[in-house]
Amino acid sequence: DSAEESFEFRAEVQRLMNIIIHSLYSNKEIFFRELVSNAADALEKLRFLSLTNRTLLSDESLDNLKIQIDFDPENRTITIEDNGIGMTKQELINNLGVVARSGTLNFLEQLKEQKDSSLIGQFGVGFYAAYLVADKVSVISKSIYDKAYVWESTADKTFTVKEYADQSIGRGTRVILHVRQDSTEFLNEHALRQLVDKYCRFITFPIYMKVESNVSDEEDSMEEDEEILDSSYSKSKTQIKNVVLNEQKPTWLRDPSEVKEDEYKALFLSLSPYSKTYLTKTHFRAEGEVEFRSILFIPERPPFDFFSEESEGSPIKLYLKRVLVSDKFAKDALLPRWLSFVLGIVDSDDLPINISREMLQQSKIVQLIRKKMIQKSLEMIRNLATSDEVEALSSEHKDTPLTKGANYSQFWKQYGKYIKLGVIEDSEYRKKLINLLRFKSSKTSEQDPDDYTSLKNYISRMKAGQNVIYYLAGESVASVRKSPLLEQLQAKDFEVLFLTEPIDEYLMQTLTEFEGYKFVDVSKENLRLGDDDKTIQSKLSKAKKRYQPLIDHLEQTLSEYVTRVKVTSRLVNTPCMLVAAEGGYSANTERILRAQAL
Ligand code: ADP
Ligand code: MG
Repeated sequence: DSAEESFEFRAEVQRLMNIIIHSLYSNKEIFFRELVSNAADALEKLRFLSLTNRTLLSDESLDNLKIQIDFDPENRTITIEDNGIGMTKQELINNLGVVARSGTLNFLEQLKEQKDSSLIGQFGVGFYAAYLVADKVSVISKSIYDKAYVWESTADKTFTVKEYADQSIGRGTRVILHVRQDSTEFLNEHALRQLVDKYCRFITFPIYMKVESNVSDEEDSMEEDEEILDSSYSKSKTQIKNVVLNEQKPTWLRDPSEVKEDEYKALFLSLSPYSKTYLTKTHFRAEGEVEFRSILFIPERPPFDFFSEESEGSPIKLYLKRVLVSDKFAKDALLPRWLSFVLGIVDSDDLPINISREMLQQSKIVQLIRKKMIQKSLEMIRNLATSDEVEALSSEHKDTPLTKGANYSQFWKQYGKYIKLGVIEDSEYRKKLINLLRFKSSKTSEQDPDDYTSLKNYISRMKAGQNVIYYLAGESVASVRKSPLLEQLQAKDFEVLFLTEPIDEYLMQTLTEFEGYKFVDVSKENLRLGDDDKTIQSKLSKAKKRYQPLIDHLEQTLSEYVTRVKVTSRLVNTPCMLVAAEGGYSANTERILRAQAL
């Protein structure tokens, strides 16, 4: 079947390609990251296959895994080639056009809000980024299981597949981009080197490019990785050499003191399609029961699919002796759900070789790795928090000893929900996590959005006579701050925590006490403020008598809406307020339940 066959792209792929070609003009360079990462994936897959199937590849062949970049300004092509696993004819058809990729629609949705092409990789449709710079793409691929085929498309709703003319080519995939007029800026050595620097430092396979070099500076620039390709040039001024452009010793295997900040950043970018920088990181080597090396990052913001059911969980890449074993874990395998925002890499020599995903979760070694990773993640978060506290202590404002500083509050704003989730669902780490909670309160600054209090600080400010922790839930800090429910507490100078997130309702069901102090909802009836003072009591009973007719009248007229009407000592300036019945839902819970029912 050497004839050319034509196929239609799936409808949503057609739409995607159309948008890519016609309306994504910024950040075109990410085509390079996507295609090189596909090449690296193909090499990883081959290496992984060979771990379980020794006969597949000779050792020599394994040592020669590489990516080759080339460019041809005359024919206006850029070529990205790998000698990885390759694709069969059917895989070319399925992977590059026909089979539904779950991310395609999600990416299209995302594009409506934000025309940011750099997110394309996150949605599993990175290949099509080729069309950011090319009007025609040819993919020549040879799998060990099939002949060589060529896939081709000009993004006109169809693609073709036919047998490749030269069947003597080796295993792997060559992607040829026919560069559009508006993307000529990538058709030169300098631009491509810059892209390698920017996007490929983390790639553990050598990336080669043929470059011209002056013979005169050859002596001092001879690197061991370069091959001289055309020695006939050597007598003239220049020669062409195939040089390695990237450093391949994986960052995580190096000594932390030798790794520069921008190298961490490059590694981070390779892991994080949705965040450009990180808040903090940790680079460590675990020793003892289990040995591994790891770098973990907390991105500056969380993934889009926060807590969603389809979410793949955290992109922790697990390497076994530098071979990527998995980057798509069953949820919770390496980190619990409440740490699913942590990104990173783990490389261990201790894992059994042909480990399956299911086995991974049961493996004792994985359990040990997991434990250590949780510990290190918590340490990372705690460090953010303490660096803030140090700052707060050294500041001059003695009367407001609240936790301050942008770092932890920045973390808290993005990830507070996750910490609360941890308190709710992880009894093993609950105690540690409670210390990481932060709240807005009646004593945190109204002006400073970064001002939060920890429970520890709340307690340190408790007034004589106060023996519980007060909280009030509501829609927003601004609205809660104005609540008449606060009047009496404020008159006594008792601090009240403000809870304004939906998850807080569940949090407060778990959180019943802290260091022996109970949590008390200010919006519930029968709130006692610790002083059943005699004069108040007698005043109250007098008022009760006096207002009984009014109470009766109100209870009758409002019987559809309220359970009870009472005279209270809780108000200072406001004539009346609505409270939740003891044991009943708070107003805030009702609001949330109503929202969920919609
Ligand atoms: P993703 O890489 O997230 O799966 P892509 O759109 O980048 O999505 O690639 C689609 C699929 O095409 C890949 O999953 C892979 O199966 C296949 N593919 C792409 N490039 C290559 C390559 N160089 N070698 C082998 N297979 C490839
Ligand atoms: Mg890809």
